[in-house]
Amino acid sequence: MSNTRFRFAPSPNGYLHLGHALSALVTWDAAHKLGGTAHLRIEDIDLNRCKPEFTQAIFEDLAWLGLSWPEPVMVQSERLESYAEAANVLRDADLLYPCFCTRSEIAEASTGTDPDGAPLYPGTCRHMSNAERIERLERGDQVQFRLDTEAALERTGMLTFSAVGPTILDRPQIRYARPERWGDVVLQRKDTPTSYHLSVVVDDAAQGITQVTRGRDLEAATNIHVLLQMLLGLPAVTYHFHRLLKDESGEKLSKSRGSKSLRDLRAEGWSPEDVRRAVGF
Ligand code: GLU
Repeated sequence: MSNTRFRFAPSPNGYLHLGHALSALVTWDAAHKLGGTAHLRIEDIDLNRCKPEFTQAIFEDLAWLGLSWPEPVMVQSERLESYAEAANVLRDADLLYPCFCTRSEIAEASTGTDPDGAPLYPGTCRHMSNAERIERLERGDQVQFRLDTEAALERTGMLTFSAVGPTILDRPQIRYARPERWGDVVLQRKDTPTSYHLSVVVDDAAQGITQVTRGRDLEAATNIHVLLQMLLGLPAVTYHFHRLLKDESGEKLSKSRGSKSLRDLRAEGWSPEDVRRAVGF
């Protein structure tokens, strides 16, 4: 039995669309071709946007597509303690610091953008005195915790990761990770004691994932994940970045842009085979 493990990790903040179907099919197809297993993970740390009915719909839509996965399914909202533990490892290593800045303060002081196009954090709270940190925390000021990325990279030195492509059967290539492009990323948000970056690396390790298949839109974020894996002593993962589906205006399909859901298509009479064909399987 192969120990190659893949995962599909959707966020239940809306219904799955064709872009998700492509990502899921890439993952299950890769597991099939490499003799591994495909696991499901529900990434629902964003409690304001995620809803149980969307989680239920994920199970139904994937089963309708003919996909199955080992139980139990990992659910991120049930794992906040594991993320807090990981954050504490970084805190104890002096790599996590409290930041009290608001979005607009950051936008005003920022002099660049991160790979997602958001204002790069200017480092305002990085060197705040301990006395001021304690005072503001005791006052109950809204706080998020950021990674001191430069200090982290001084500890790890140059980092690399391995990526396979254009197809899953190609040979892995070694790439340099460039996490510094993200500046000091938030690892514990104001509304939850974790973040996408922290949860995803903790959970890939907890699920024993060896191969991450994800869209090219997450290629840049992978650089931060590689750094976090090294800092937390988690195993390295091989990545495969798949193509993205675009709508008529050339934009990536997305819930917010009103892309049709798999349920809409199903109601219009689409079969699972139609979906497979539409996304190139
Ligand atoms: N949950 C993330 C999303 O739905 C993707 C997970 C990942 O591949 O890291 O976009």
